[in-house]
Amino acid sequence: MIIAEQKPLKEIREMIAPYKKVLVVGCGTCVTVCLSGGEKEVGVLASTLRLADAVDGNEREFVEQTITRQCEDEFIEQLRGNVEKVDAVLSLGCGVGVQDIAAIFPEIPVLPGLNTTSFGRPSEQGVWVEECAGCGDCILDETGGICPIARCAKNLLNGPCGGSHGGKCEISDDTPCAWALVYERLGRLGKLKTLEEIKPAKNWSTAGHGGPRKMVREDLRK
Ligand code: SF4
Ligand code: SF4
Repeated sequence: MIIAEQKPLKEIREMIAPYKKVLVVGCGTCVTVCLSGGEKEVGVLASTLRLADAVDGNEREFVEQTITRQCEDEFIEQLRGNVEKVDAVLSLGCGVGVQDIAAIFPEIPVLPGLNTTSFGRPSEQGVWVEECAGCGDCILDETGGICPIARCAKNLLNGPCGGSHGGKCEISDDTPCAWALVYERLGRLGKLKTLEEIKPAKNWSTAGHGGPRKMVREDLRK
């Protein structure tokens, strides 16, 4: 899933300041799971913004709508009726959702209510951790299913740096060393020999260093 967190209220209020009628749009997929941009969060944020405006004496109206996904045109189309009635959209989707709504409704400002941070999973209640950086050339088969691109602070490919200590990363004692996890997992799998093969420098062009990436399935094209 894509992980995103709500921007500070002050920043959101500054973004919407020029507008009198704002459509707050939730997304029913990833950001619902990470409790930052689903229907419930849309309701809470809109109420908070109404209250803040009432305290400050601002006249502003908020409309609320949540769609299944903000990253697919067919769902975004469902916003059209409300988009035509407002002068700005505040998206609680990830960065993809914000851009897709803006692409379909280019005549209206679309503002990001969230900061999109990573691809990951909920690891315990209230905690979401990054596990994939979308590098475009997955090596999890060589690393025991632990991603050193996303989970090692230095993206190292051939074992830990000198800062690894007691299974922790040097950046923080709260952060496991990805390479300690790789070592432990490969040990369990009886595949420690894998670590003796030196991996060459990674070709980062698949990770976006060669420009924006695009997946094309010719077999599915019209
Ligand atoms: S190796 Fe690349 S694709 Fe595989 S989990 Fe890591 S970042 Fe994601
Ligand atoms: S301590 Fe481990 S996870 Fe942290 S930067 Fe070094 S190798 Fe990577």
